[in-house]
Formats: sequence, C-alpha cells, structure tokens
Amino acid sequence: LPEDVRSLLLSRIKDVADYPKPGVMFKDITPLLADPEAFGALTGALVELAGRYGATKIVGLEARGFILAAPVAVQAGIGFVPVRKAGKLPGATLAQSYELEYGTAEIEVHAEDLATGDRVMVIDDVLATGGTAEASLSLIRRAGAEVAGVAVLMELSFLPGRAKLAGSLAGAPLDAL
Ligand code: AMP
Repeated sequence: LPEDVRSLLLSRIKDVADYPKPGVMFKDITPLLADPEAFGALTGALVELAGRYGATKIVGLEARGFILAAPVAVQAGIGFVPVRKAGKLPGATLAQSYELEYGTAEIEVHAEDLATGDRVMVIDDVLATGGTAEASLSLIRRAGAEVAGVAVLMELSFLPGRAKLAGSLAGAPLDAL
C-alpha cells in the first residue's frame, strides 16, 4: 500500500482492549467503514489484488469479511460467495469444523456457489490464529474450486496464523494490507 493510504487506514482502526474478553485487543474497523475515503481506498486495494490473483469469485468470511468483500466483488465484476457460520444457509452446504481455543466452530458454504474452475479470493478483516481462513480454504477445495489467494486487512503477526495457513495455501498468496 502507498504510505498515505496505509496511514489513513491505520488511523481508522481502533484498538479496543479486553474485548470481547479479557486479554484480547479487538481491532474495530467501524471507523474505517464510516469513512468513505478510507473504505474506498481499502476496496480499491482489494480490487487490485483480485486482479493480480486472477480471481473469478470472491469469498467473504462472516461477518466483517462480508462487508469488505461485497464491494470488491461488485467493483471487480465477479460473484460474491458468503462463507457462513453453521446453520445460516438454507440450501445444500459443505461444512467444515475447526478448532478454537476452547471447543470447535463450524462454517458452511452453499455447494452450488463454487464450481470446478473457479479461482477464489478469500477476504476477511483480521487473520488471528488462521483457523477460520484455513477452514474456508478446505471448503473451497472440497467444492472443486481453486484457491487464488487470501487477503486480509490486518494480520496479528504475534500469532502463528500465517504459518498455520502455509500448508493449505499451497503456494497461493496471503496478503495482509
Ligand atoms: P482466527 O480464526 O483465529 O484467524 O480468527 C479470525 C476471525 O476472528 C476473523 O473473522 C476476525 O474477524 C476475528 N478476530 C480474531 N481476532 C480478532 C481481533 N483481535 N480483532 C478483531 N477481530 C478478530
């Protein structure tokens, strides 16, 4: 990112200590979303990445990933596919569970939204442990589609998310803006 865009985006992300529980530094992107210049610059940077990836579909991860991914899909002129928390999609789904700090979580995608030959870009706001992104990559592959790349606004580099994802990326790029 150009330095002026990078500092604009950084200035619109609020660190909220001990939310949603003690010890977590929550990255609040609502100030960024409320600023059309910042949101537009972020969308533009992601559209450029989508082009570089040669993406033919955009997957957004619930919930903040939806907000970032949808305008990118529209601007890039390609389809948007939501990967949702289990139990929210009415049609035939593929499901993938993954480990959380305590317990497990499950995400789903409509099987018919992804097809063989699709090159899929995954978008989310924050890469933390990498569990959610990794599960989304296996959904994409199980649907027969190809992983074109993963783009996040922020990577919590003190967590091993990037290392955890390396294997499932299988050479596809991971970009943290
Ligand atoms: P993970 O599966 O651990 O990589 O967590 C990623 C998901 O949790 C993303 O969808 C983020 O929106 C959310 N998340 C994790 N940590 C944070 C954080 N510190 N601030 C904001 N969102 C977070």
